[in-house]
Amino acid sequence: MMKNDMKYKLICFDLDGTIIDETIFIWQTLHDALGSDKKKRKQYAEDFVNKKITYRQWAEHDLELWREVGATRTKMIQATDGLRLMPGALETLNELKRLKEKAKEEGNCLKLAIISGSLNIALEKVLPNYKDYFDDVYINHLIFDGKDGENLAGIRSTTFDFENKADALKEIAARENILLSECVFIGDHDNDIHVAEIAGLSIAFNCKSERLAQIADVVVEKKDLREILKYIL
Ligand SMILES: [Mg+2]
Repeated sequence: MMKNDMKYKLICFDLDGTIIDETIFIWQTLHDALGSDKKKRKQYAEDFVNKKITYRQWAEHDLELWREVGATRTKMIQATDGLRLMPGALETLNELKRLKEKAKEEGNCLKLAIISGSLNIALEKVLPNYKDYFDDVYINHLIFDGKDGENLAGIRSTTFDFENKADALKEIAARENILLSECVFIGDHDNDIHVAEIAGLSIAFNCKSERLAQIADVVVEKKDLREILKYIL
């Protein structure tokens, strides 16, 4: 068996602002597109920050605001129209996928994952075949029902946003027998700080968080995801 020439065995990405461009937080982008109540959504965000409500309750409240403005599946998908893949993302993911297949042939391990508070409809918009790339995807899933599938029925909310993103990384690493020192995390904002702190290599990309830039091992300034490859390979 050949020795794995890759130092890292698990590469984890944030979505909004990292793989998905033209948004900082998809929740905010959808609120703006759908025109939901600004005062209430600000209140819910504050309540979450102040730990008055849980993440799940915050998500449920936001869904309620979208229902108030008549959100349907079609309208919500239309609201994702402006989203784009980050420059260089497809090339980067294709290269990592190639390396993953090569590692597998050689009896080695390389895993790709998403740990994000984004929504499935955003990921499906920019990268419909995301399952071809990622072994694990931790995100929020909207549930639609009704006879035309248009009714916004609920959400399967992630338990791994903000400080809990670190738990998702630990969970995947433990399951796959990978050391945290062999894990890479790439993110852009405050909710990536905890997970960046525990990953063997943390990369701040397209970064909007002063704190994340401070604690990250690498800060990539150029807005081209291919820039991360030289640090990983
Ligand atoms: Mg982000």
